Amino acid sequence: MTTSTTAATALRVQRIKPSPSTAAAQRVRELKAQGLAILDLTVGEPDFDTPEHVKAAAFEAIRRGDTKYTPVNGTPQLRAAIAQKLEQRHGLSYSADRIAVGGGAKQVIFLALMASLDTGDEVIVPAPYWVSYPDMVLANDGTPVVVPCPEAEGFKLTPRRLESAITDRTRWVILNAPGNPTGAAYTADELRALADVLLAHPHVQVLTDEIYDEIWYEPGRVPSLAGVEPRLTERVFLTNGVSKTYAMTGWRIGYGAGPAWLVAAVNTLQSQISSCPSSISQAAAAAALTGDQDFVRDCVAVYRGRRDVTVKLVEDIPGLSCTPPSGGFYAFVNCTGVLGKATPAGEVIGSDEDFARYLLESQQVAAIHGAAYGSPGYFRISFATSTDVLTEACERIGRACADLSPADPS
Ligand code: PMP
Repeated sequence: MTTSTTAATALRVQRIKPSPSTAAAQRVRELKAQGLAILDLTVGEPDFDTPEHVKAAAFEAIRRGDTKYTPVNGTPQLRAAIAQKLEQRHGLSYSADRIAVGGGAKQVIFLALMASLDTGDEVIVPAPYWVSYPDMVLANDGTPVVVPCPEAEGFKLTPRRLESAITDRTRWVILNAPGNPTGAAYTADELRALADVLLAHPHVQVLTDEIYDEIWYEPGRVPSLAGVEPRLTERVFLTNGVSKTYAMTGWRIGYGAGPAWLVAAVNTLQSQISSCPSSISQAAAAAALTGDQDFVRDCVAVYRGRRDVTVKLVEDIPGLSCTPPSGGFYAFVNCTGVLGKATPAGEVIGSDEDFARYLLESQQVAAIHGAAYGSPGYFRISFATSTDVLTEACERIGRACADLSPADPS
């Protein structure tokens, strides 16, 4: 019997592309493997090791025999730890049936979209956006509605722009704060102003991605929409995780808290997709959330120093500028001042993508171009790397800019 095979993928796969940040990281790995000394500013994860007490909790879970399936929505211990964090931080009280735990915030966000979108449903995605949102929407048959949020407006969605993007088909607005790639975050007043618009459109839900909430450089704590406007709490799906705060990207634990119907739907999908997140990682995540938080304070102090160094060095480079990020570990650098110039090889820098390629080829500095985040004219620097690397990289970027000349008008 002959079997016929076909290489045709489903339309939902054809509609999307691999994550540009994952692809960039892979490219850097390949170049390093070829022996090139790349200064890597693409990294989307802390360069710190997971704290020892978190690792110890994982070993203990293994020894105890917690090595089996857990409840689909996560262990009671982890859900209690998440509920406690949300209570302490935002005064929000979530019962166990309103918390879903998954394999990273990425998976939880994907499942929430999968659980709620039908063909043609619209999702408002303010740009600059985390690279994955539009593709996650497309993969789940939705339509991303990208709303540009210029630097002059702090890279933030304004009530006016929100209002004009809402249609009868709008299902979600995604608010990521502190944001990747800009580090921008909404004040409580700004969230209230957005809430005023949302209260007039009861069919619209809000997915808040708060994965960088602890990596915060301003006074006080970054506010969360669900905490700021209690009338919206039932319409907000608050997502977060342990990857960035506790240097646990490889453990793959994220969570979402929100309306019971959505959490139940996410859990139904998870029961068919993965059964549950890793039991061992869940024990580690619970220890991270409930244990000593000195690690987080120490990391933020280090990130803050790196942020200050990076922003200062970038600001000193003619042609580049950077609004200091309020949180997260990325600087989103404006490079419109170098566009249209020519490289020593005579190639014109026509776009941020050309500039990122030029940095890589001429100076072995890897950064991700802004168009990947829906915002051409910028590039993203991750400062989750040592000050030495950042200083050397900024020197090289400065050299690359100095080597550019006004394009030949002929
Ligand atoms: N949201 C944003 C804005 C992120 O930058 C990332 C990680 N790059 C995630 C979510 C996913 O995090 P996790 O490791 O929990 O899947």
